[in-house]
Amino acid sequence: MIPFLDMKAAYAELKPELDAAYRRVMESGWFVLGKEVEAFEAEYAAFCGTRHCVGLGNGLEALELVLRAWDLGPGDEVIVPSNTYIATWLAVTAVGAAVIPVEPTPEGPNIDPDRIAAAITSRTRAIMPVHLYGEPADMDAIMVLADKHGLKVVEDVAQAQGAKVRNRRTGALGHAGAHSFFPTKNIGAYGDGGAVTTDDAALADRLRTLRNYGSKVKYVNIERGFNSRLDEMQAAFLRVKLKVLDAWNERRRRVAARYDDRLAGIPGFGLPRAPQWGESVWHLYVVRCARRKELMAALDRAGIGSLIHYPIPPHLQQAYADLRQGRGTFPLAETLADTVLSLPMSPHMPESAVDEVAAVVRRTLVSD
Ligand SMILES: *Cc1c(COP(=O)(O)O)cnc(C)c1O
Repeated sequence: MIPFLDMKAAYAELKPELDAAYRRVMESGWFVLGKEVEAFEAEYAAFCGTRHCVGLGNGLEALELVLRAWDLGPGDEVIVPSNTYIATWLAVTAVGAAVIPVEPTPEGPNIDPDRIAAAITSRTRAIMPVHLYGEPADMDAIMVLADKHGLKVVEDVAQAQGAKVRNRRTGALGHAGAHSFFPTKNIGAYGDGGAVTTDDAALADRLRTLRNYGSKVKYVNIERGFNSRLDEMQAAFLRVKLKVLDAWNERRRRVAARYDDRLAGIPGFGLPRAPQWGESVWHLYVVRCARRKELMAALDRAGIGSLIHYPIPPHLQQAYADLRQGRGTFPLAETLADTVLSLPMSPHMPESAVDEVAAVVRRTLVSD
């Protein structure tokens, strides 16, 4: 049996440190907005290479609160990838702005800067690139466009903590980076968590107010805020996880390299291509295969977990039926949704498991 992701292996490796973090918080008697969150914010900002980090409730709210802090709302347009997890779109529509979906590059999976240029109008206020599967989007090209048109850029870093574009971390490449610490992410908490990284002191300050009922001083509310705070327990766990993030991403890289080697040269089977402008952190190892259904069934029979990220693109979800963007509106995103398959990937995956997965793929797709 090879699980898609073995969450227990991470705990087994870090048990003494995580258990100590748990005890430290329990014995402190302080659970919301305290020393652990403050320390994690400083450590994570230093890791990402930004001046500020604000701990928030989850990744979706991190995206949404950035847009609120920039006062985006009805009448504004935000450019988003057609090929992404629905959370990216939900953040935009939550503030009442319009999503303007843009297709990925032909190689995929990330947003195509040339197509962004064509989607910019007088109402465009922001671009929300996603570093999907751990692979950085083409941020240099995106920032050139943003500067030229006076647009804000918030990176969706939910799947790419630690990734780099020419030695600078994702989350430090746009005007703000929205991070998720959902348990399955590259740096995962033991519950929900999120953060925004930025060099913009005014943005960080506004986020600190927004996350806490619109209040800086207890019982004095200067605006209508929210309750979206990273809690002390999750922050304490994340401080432990942050220490191993680079090393665990390196292990993911080795798993990916071994897959690349073992899966090379299978006809009709597309391997993920890492972009030349950046370093992926391999949140997922996503292949493309027209015979996906058959391949998934063969993997399942062999006791190997696989998943589809994602089977239905946001524009075809019932949640966005009112936008009337039917099948055929974003053909690249639709083709990806019909053909992508994520193979098991984690920092704890042994080489023998990679070889076993690759052998099943080869046996299924290569007829002799
Ligand atoms: C996980 C994820 C989110 C949302 O993060 P949560 O913490 O689960 O709210 C947003 N965008 C992408 C691309 C994600 O993968």
